[in-house]
Amino acid sequence: MDTVHTTKCLIIGSGPAGYTAAIYTARADLKPILYEGMQQGGQLTITTEVENFPGYPKGISGPAMMDEIREQVFRFKADVRSGEIVEVDFSKRPFICKSDSGVVVHAETVIIATGASARFLGIPSEKEYYGHGVSACATCDGYFYKGKKVAVIGGGDTAAEEATYLANLCEKVYLIHRRGEMRASKELQKRIFKTPNIEIVWHHVLEEILGESQKFSKMVTGIRLKNVQNQEEKIIPLDGVFVAIGHHPNTETFKGQIDLDDEHYIVTRPGSSHTNIPGVFAAGDVQDKNYQQAITAAAGGCIAAIDAERFLLTSDD
Ligand code: FAD
Ligand code: NAP
Repeated sequence: MDTVHTTKCLIIGSGPAGYTAAIYTARADLKPILYEGMQQGGQLTITTEVENFPGYPKGISGPAMMDEIREQVFRFKADVRSGEIVEVDFSKRPFICKSDSGVVVHAETVIIATGASARFLGIPSEKEYYGHGVSACATCDGYFYKGKKVAVIGGGDTAAEEATYLANLCEKVYLIHRRGEMRASKELQKRIFKTPNIEIVWHHVLEEILGESQKFSKMVTGIRLKNVQNQEEKIIPLDGVFVAIGHHPNTETFKGQIDLDDEHYIVTRPGSSHTNIPGVFAAGDVQDKNYQQAITAAAGGCIAAIDAERFLLTSDD
């Protein structure tokens, strides 16, 4: 039989939004339960330096910052659990949410803070060589390409950061972007432009990742690119490909239970964290495709916690 636990507030996710919601709800005595999911600490645990979160004048590593926020959550005795929420029923209160270990949580309110995950190009060779020369995380896998040649795909902040990080390790980094200008912040662009071993390949898209596939080993040997302006193709020999083309929201578990927009982000009422289900709130990247910053996610967690607290004070049952 399933074990049933009850709470005034279930928080799903352990990025800046989830942990902040836990600090606020715990201090408001809602005795929150928080499920951390597969990525304890969220997206910042795969980055190096965070320089734009207030309070760290010298910058801080992403994992260290998330460890500090987690410690603050424990200070207020939130019930933090490893594991994922795999099923939800928002049709009536208390909401019924099931974890991957079979625990069923009956929650009077739910704060969804499941963030976003890396997006992939969807070409067959990307799948074939994933983990064998194709990666979406330079901090995780960059070390394997020490002294080698790699490509980073994308033109946003993530691509700029990945390229700069890899340039410190690799002989050469090709930054492949489909347009003639980057959307990365000016500061990150400046770093890219002044790094001698980064070459930007403008107006090109990745058509195919080339490699050698043997029975027990696979390796990337190059990429085939297409110039989107004149359709010409070219091949660059290299050893690794880092895909950095953005993120998609982690809302699979909530499909059919809550309103999502056409890009699958949770829809919240402007200026609040209210979803279309009274008592279910959303915070951070899972409902924000515009800003997607640690500080905005943390702010969203605070807003959701206050919304949940006020909801409990004013709801009839
Ligand atoms: P996330 O950090 O995405 O966390 C989501 C959480 O939900 C994870 O803990 C995951 O395990 C959990 N989860 C997912 N599904 C489930 C489930 N079913 N059950 C339970 N838990 C679940 N922003 C900055 O401000 N400054 C930076 O320097 C910066 N650098 C970045 C570098 C990189 C490489 C990346 C990828 C992002 C960077 N960002 C930066 C953006 C920032 O990381 C995000 O905006 C922020 O982490 C979003 O926080 P979040 O709490 O909404 O979600
Ligand atoms: P992003 O801003 O959405 O950028 C994605 C990039 O990939 C864009 O340049 C886009 O091209 C390109 N792209 C998308 N789909 C593509 C495809 N199919 N083929 C080729 N190229 C494709 O995503 P992000 O860089 O991951 O950033 C997400 C959020 O996190 C942003 O808000 C960002 O500010 C934040 N972030 C912040 C930091 C920081 O502050 N240091 C670091 C990392 C991330 P187009 O430009 O042509 O659309």
